[in-house]
Amino acid sequence: MYSDLAEQLSIREQQGLKRYRSILDSPQSRSVNIDGCEYLSFGSNDYLGLSNHPDLVQSACLGARRYGVGAGASHLLYGHSSAHHELEEAVARFTGFPRALLFSTGYMANIGVVTALVGRHDAVFADKLNHASLNDAAILSRAQLVRYPHLDLSVLEQHLKKSKAKRKLVVSDAVFSMDGDIAPIPDLVVMCERYNAMLLLDDAHGFGVLGRDGRGTLFTENNKPAHSHIVLHSPNIIYMATLGKAAGVFGAFVAACPVVIETMIQTARSYIYTTAGPPLLSHVLLQSLALIEQESWRRAHLFHLINRLQQELDMSGWRILPSKTPIQPVLVGSTRKVVHISSSLKAQGILVPAIRPPTVPQNTARLRISLSASHQETDIVRLATVLRHLA
Ligand SMILES: *Cc1c(COP(=O)(O)O)cnc(C)c1O
Repeated sequence: MYSDLAEQLSIREQQGLKRYRSILDSPQSRSVNIDGCEYLSFGSNDYLGLSNHPDLVQSACLGARRYGVGAGASHLLYGHSSAHHELEEAVARFTGFPRALLFSTGYMANIGVVTALVGRHDAVFADKLNHASLNDAAILSRAQLVRYPHLDLSVLEQHLKKSKAKRKLVVSDAVFSMDGDIAPIPDLVVMCERYNAMLLLDDAHGFGVLGRDGRGTLFTENNKPAHSHIVLHSPNIIYMATLGKAAGVFGAFVAACPVVIETMIQTARSYIYTTAGPPLLSHVLLQSLALIEQESWRRAHLFHLINRLQQELDMSGWRILPSKTPIQPVLVGSTRKVVHISSSLKAQGILVPAIRPPTVPQNTARLRISLSASHQETDIVRLATVLRHLA
């Protein structure tokens, strides 16, 4: 019965595409313990180093005493706690939207938003390099899915212009998760307003990291001068971010105007038909939001490390993609080669994940170096030294 599955698995292995899970025996941090060995890690999305922050660990203990460990029910059936509600109000305030709604994960948030907003007679326009969850959401919605070349707004505009769809939804990563580059948000907003399209921005990698006090990609400088009014106040924007990356905990939220949020409460199936997240996590996230805002040294240090890495790897022989975010991909191309390089790094005590198809397009396998405020400058120098040697 399972022989074809076994065959598919062995093909995967032959092509260097089989994934293995390492078992971490320590909290997520700059250094992690696997099989009794310490590794310097560049593999987490814990960009601010908050996932093991002592204040948040303490807050989790207090939150458990106050709320218990499980929500026990879905949001619509008496599982919606005051901690969830307070967190929704706090993220709405922080990101400058009228309302926000919590989801258990970013994957579920994207599934919920897209399927709640579009259906059979509608169309979704998606950047080719968007996160898998956005593509899955579009397919599940049964709307027509139109994918445009990465960042190519002139192609997007042609599609929008000729579309006869009843509702149009443009979806884009704000920071692209495997390339680290940033979407041209002001231009996207202007275009969506012109063609009466909704714009879903997935800021999984910008929230907490970019913009004033870590408020996210909408608050970055290049969104400011000419377009700040439009960008920050456009009712077309539906903003989504995760709480398991820079915020260091777990979960996600969607922020938008009230009619969109209410529509999701009423119809987003990944919101309705699932148990609410543990309220203790919302309790922790309230404090995590405060740390994101107050501990600005974390972002300053992180951006210093990004610059330092780029200097170190300049002229090293490696092809570094142009990214101003903590995601610093080193393009390798061949899947086998990237697996080999990643294992060589591991043999020298350094973890950098090899990213392969189908996560990225064919022939664009890469090392995905991700930096965190928990790193020290010496860590960056060590990584760069080993990489130069491997070049
Ligand atoms: C990580 C990620 C998600 C999924 O978020 P989770 O909370 O991990 O489920 C969605 N979109 C993008 C761009 C991501 O990088």
